[in-house]
Amino acid sequence: MVKIMIAPNRYIQGPRVLKETGTYIVHLGSRVFFIGGPTALSTVKDQVSASLNENSMEYQFEAFSGECTRASAARLLEKARRFLADVVAGVGGGRAIDTAKAVSHGLGSALVIIPTVASNDAPCSALCVQYKENHMLDRFLILKRNPDVVLVDSKVIAEAPTRYFVAGMGDALATWFEAFTCTKSSAKNLPGGVTTAAALNLARLCYDTLMEYGVSAKLAVDQNAVTPAVEKVIEANVLLSGLGFESSGLAAAHGIHEGVHALGGTEGALHGELVAFGTIAQLVMENYSRGEIDRVIDFCKAVGLPVTLRQLGVSDASPENLMKAAEVACMEGLTTHNCYFEINPELILGAIIGANALGEASLKRS
Ligand SMILES: [Zn+2]
Repeated sequence: MVKIMIAPNRYIQGPRVLKETGTYIVHLGSRVFFIGGPTALSTVKDQVSASLNENSMEYQFEAFSGECTRASAARLLEKARRFLADVVAGVGGGRAIDTAKAVSHGLGSALVIIPTVASNDAPCSALCVQYKENHMLDRFLILKRNPDVVLVDSKVIAEAPTRYFVAGMGDALATWFEAFTCTKSSAKNLPGGVTTAAALNLARLCYDTLMEYGVSAKLAVDQNAVTPAVEKVIEANVLLSGLGFESSGLAAAHGIHEGVHALGGTEGALHGELVAFGTIAQLVMENYSRGEIDRVIDFCKAVGLPVTLRQLGVSDASPENLMKAAEVACMEGLTTHNCYFEINPELILGAIIGANALGEASLKRS
């Protein structure tokens, strides 16, 4: 078995690093095509353009909202081509970042990622998830290489709504458990090898960091403050989780997230919120100790992650309805199949119901 680990070329994190954007990316090219959500672009535009001007770089900002689809990427690719871009930069959350990845892939350009929220572990990876117009999964596009530069301004992250920061912890919460499962099954990671000790240990460090600093970081971000705990959790959400998932592998938590996401009522739930619930369900399915599951549920409650289907917006928790989620989670090509035992919809259904019951009971106790 061949071990493969991949990573972004440079990861840069700190308060106000965006003021030096030009300095950090000037080696990549001179014409930068920015793709970002309208809010994200208005947050970073002034400092980024001032720094690019200082470095005599040309740039164009392209506001983007909506789903990351093949059509939206094709449209923006055309604009980037017309601008003669040699660098594509994604600014914002998951959708803008994934769209920038797809455009850069099509263009064959350098890729810069500037997350303005730490809501998921997309920034460092070579994975681009594309959706259909109806929000259902379309395909996993694997880029030829990881982003060249990932630029994370911790002040910008801390000033974004806390809910995104917390959702990022939900996504990062799954990383260790999914990585460990993939180790047991020797499942292939994203680049098609098996995990390294390095990637597995980064996944573990991700989990330990959340447990140690998650709650205090959340409280600081509530006040828009950057503290050492906030820096630790940003690194866990963006770098450790990103490297951990990509070079170790995803498993049932993400598969169940797709399943629950297909249920009515979850449209407003964030990726990391669904993944947090998926993590609890994976632990139930793998029969983790009650102590370990309680630790995860207590953490979720302490930082404000959902632990029940109701909190995710699912009003119909009947087995018939939940079976739809279980069937989606078992679809071919989903990472649920990276488990070290054979999975089927009944097994997933039991895990979803079991996780929801533990979550409801825990909420009643507090
Ligand atoms: Zn994820």
